[in-house]
Amino acid sequence: MDFRIKDYFSPIFLTKTYFSMKKNPKLPKAKLEQVTLKRLKKICVYANEHVPYYKKLFKSIDFNPETLSSFEEFERIPILDKSVIRDKFDELVSDEYQKFSPVISETSGSTGTPLQFYLDKRINAATFMLFNRTWTMAPWRIGLPQATISGYAEGEWHYSKLKKILYLSSFHLDNKTIHTYYDLIKKYKVRFLRGYPSSLYRMAQLLVEENLELHFDVLFSGAETLLPYQRELIEKVFRGKVIDHFTHWERTASICECLSGHLHAENDYGYHEIVDNDGKKTMDVGRLVCTGLYNRAMPLIRYDTRDLAQWDSETTTCSCGSNFPIVKKIIGRIEDFVVLPNGRYIGRLDAAFKFNENIRYAFLYQPDLYHLEVNLCPGDNFDFEYERVRLESELRKRVGDEIKLIYKIVEEEDVPFSPVGKLRFMKSDVLEQEQTTNQEGI
Ligand SMILES: [Zn+2]
Repeated sequence: MDFRIKDYFSPIFLTKTYFSMKKNPKLPKAKLEQVTLKRLKKICVYANEHVPYYKKLFKSIDFNPETLSSFEEFERIPILDKSVIRDKFDELVSDEYQKFSPVISETSGSTGTPLQFYLDKRINAATFMLFNRTWTMAPWRIGLPQATISGYAEGEWHYSKLKKILYLSSFHLDNKTIHTYYDLIKKYKVRFLRGYPSSLYRMAQLLVEENLELHFDVLFSGAETLLPYQRELIEKVFRGKVIDHFTHWERTASICECLSGHLHAENDYGYHEIVDNDGKKTMDVGRLVCTGLYNRAMPLIRYDTRDLAQWDSETTTCSCGSNFPIVKKIIGRIEDFVVLPNGRYIGRLDAAFKFNENIRYAFLYQPDLYHLEVNLCPGDNFDFEYERVRLESELRKRVGDEIKLIYKIVEEEDVPFSPVGKLRFMKSDVLEQEQTTNQEGI
């Protein structure tokens, strides 16, 4: 997440959001639900008055936001699919959107056509405050320096004196630049490090290779799924805790790990639901459906994020003191699944790659129903035959025998990073073809 000072110039809104976000997590559960419901009502009332799409939709289902008093009533609103945003973009924009100085944003486009939407000043400010709340776990406060490693840096690195952020480029990360990055982190007295898990992982590997020691109590990982083997190495090398923070470009969702290791759905930023294929609430794995509570330029209500997640039905309280609901796991995007010839969908194949530090990067590509390419970018002690045998056994446990596995060695420049440096682990042409004809997905 990046921010621009000029997007946050409303000091009253900023101060109010800062204090409410500070106190919300520890409110009693019933009070917290009231806060969420009040915000849902506000955004629905606004959408009904100013957004043509919702005005029409609410009328058609006889939904009156003015009298909204329960989540059950709210859940009568049909789920918003990404295809609706593409097809009815203009109808989803507020008739007074310019008032909120919106900027056009878009998804990173790693799957299909990027999706465009407006983000306004309020959501940018709320997001800034949300991240502030997360970073206090470091511990950190406004004014202390931090570092981020991602694909954003102009050149190898730059330091913003105003924001006190050291930007390190993941594209330039190698055995030489790691020494520069190490010196810069020391020089600027960086309080914490955040970045993509694949970048933090690579950085950890390089620190070991170059015999450098760097310690952070807390590191923040986001924008990609944090894989178990990545967490293990990052926490070992930096001797700290990795906090996994799930957010997305549309800014309707925020699920953040706490210091006690639980994932909390932050319902004062977006309202999180998990539903089955029929759109009904489920405690099993289901689709994460979210409602943004701040963005008025283009409200997204009951938006299907196309991510799969599951509530934790056993843990109801957390020792961190937060009363936000607990998510057991975020499984990842529907697009990240392999489709087997028998019609089953298999996710989390990354688990087959754990304990595998000799592989620098790995990614899978499914061109058709019967083939799966396993692409490996070798590390220093890579032994192809050894890895192939080991991976074959791990992958077969998950995908069975009907699909042919094709192993390929790739160079670092062939690893599919998005323009902002995100690694796309899985790509299935089968699933993408299906989705163009069947929006039901799973
Ligand atoms: Zn907690």
